[in-house]
Amino acid sequence: MSAISLQAIKKSFGKTNVLAGIDLDIRDGEFLTLVGPSGCGKSTLLRILAGLEAPSSGSVMIGGKTVNAVRPADRNLAMVFQSYALYPHLTIAQNMMTPLRLRDLSFTERLPIIGPMLAREKYRKLQHQVQETAKVLRIDPLLDRKPGQLSGGQRQRAALGRAMVRKPIAFLMDEPLSNLDAALRIHMRSELAELHRSLGTTFVYVTHDQAEALTMSTRMAVMMDGHILQLGPPDEVYNNPNHIRVAEFVGSPKINLLPGELDTSGYVRFGDTVLSRISAPGSAISVTIGLRAEHLALVEPSDASALQGRVAYKENLGSDLFLHATMKDGAQRVVIRATPQEAATVSVGNDISFARKRGEAMVFGQDG
Ligand code: ADP
Repeated sequence: MSAISLQAIKKSFGKTNVLAGIDLDIRDGEFLTLVGPSGCGKSTLLRILAGLEAPSSGSVMIGGKTVNAVRPADRNLAMVFQSYALYPHLTIAQNMMTPLRLRDLSFTERLPIIGPMLAREKYRKLQHQVQETAKVLRIDPLLDRKPGQLSGGQRQRAALGRAMVRKPIAFLMDEPLSNLDAALRIHMRSELAELHRSLGTTFVYVTHDQAEALTMSTRMAVMMDGHILQLGPPDEVYNNPNHIRVAEFVGSPKINLLPGELDTSGYVRFGDTVLSRISAPGSAISVTIGLRAEHLALVEPSDASALQGRVAYKENLGSDLFLHATMKDGAQRVVIRATPQEAATVSVGNDISFARKRGEAMVFGQDG
């Protein structure tokens, strides 16, 4: 069994059911992201794990023991809040030392004469520990500064540092990057992922930002309406979403969804165009076809599997270029990733032909 396990966790606030019975085994050392739209219950689940909120029913297990009745401070989990929660009047070094100094002085260390000697020795060790932690986080030159003299990213690392000195069994983070500006937020993704790798400690990370989840996690749990719809490594969730809502939520630009049909021969069709064969012959059913922008490419109009559209907008993101097209068969919009060379050959208003070039067309039934 993994060190941390959530079993049949339900939570209601009054009449509002927020968590609908969550089972989740968190693997030792993984970077697990709880990701989903705002209000789906991510923070509540994290707070239940931390002990800041009690579940209505279900068990929180740490190291094989139920800890529902254990106080947050005694769970040995480090919660890193979005608001940093650093003491403004203390230096970064003092901030990083506070949890240790309060916790670690034993009875003898509080005695007169011998106490201060032992405490001094311990203090020296702690200082060393803070130095080492600060080096890992590259904030060692900033230890004598106050939080107000640090940038957002540095404060972020200092807050992490304070949690790290305690050597917790897991770091719990609730949208820790949301106060940072866009460029720093993206930079911090790689910092956090690297930090996770170098520490090897379990991270449980809450975010509503699917890009953060895709770029940092070893596994992501996609939550909607108090359920985990899918749990898996980012590439699995991205390439094989098990539900149309997961497919829509994960990925940017949003996946193209087309109304289609699975015909009696097992072929997926959009209008007259056959996109792929996905199953044995059976009865025809209506489906929703999911096609990612990067799985589509411009083709010759004569291509048998070509879909037709008209360019409505060229979205140039520098590294990526997306053509937004309106399908001729209806009001449907489709986004296609194009190379700069391809994009140079078409203008807004041009008719284009495109087809699925890579990846399987994803097919979702009526129930997702
Ligand atoms: P998320 O982190 O996914 O945005 P939350 O877990 O914060 O979602 O909240 C889930 C739902 O629970 C929301 O509808 C929120 O309003 C409600 N909620 C959270 N905490 C409380 C509370 N203390 N009292 C009442 N409702 C709450």
